[in-house]
Amino acid sequence: MRRGFAMRCPACGEAPAFIGYLTVQPVCPHCAAPLGRVPCDDAPPYITLLIALHFIIVVMVLADFDGGMNWITSMIIFVPFTVVLMLAMLRPIKGATLAIMLKIDMLRPVPKVASAPVVSG
Ligand SMILES: [Zn+2]
Repeated sequence: MRRGFAMRCPACGEAPAFIGYLTVQPVCPHCAAPLGRVPCDDAPPYITLLIALHFIIVVMVLADFDGGMNWITSMIIFVPFTVVLMLAMLRPIKGATLAIMLKIDMLRPVPKVASAPVVSG
């Protein structure tokens, strides 16, 4: 999970797990772990939202404990802060999710290779 959080291959920790911002390598180039078959789907954004929004709410309450902050000031401060925080958290959380799902062997089935049609008769 630590290797995944560091955005490295969770199996070996040698190669990067991502080829883009959130695009997972189909197969680890170092250890051939089937990273592309891990069905992360909506879990990383959900976990990111859960953590980031709870954190933002606490910061907002602490920053405006007397209720005197103008809503425009609040929007100018907290909307960009929320976006940046979530974009920063999403990739490591996806890496950690990838690690957990790979560890518990939760993989998509191997894609079937197109083969010649079977002729029966
Ligand atoms: Zn690897």
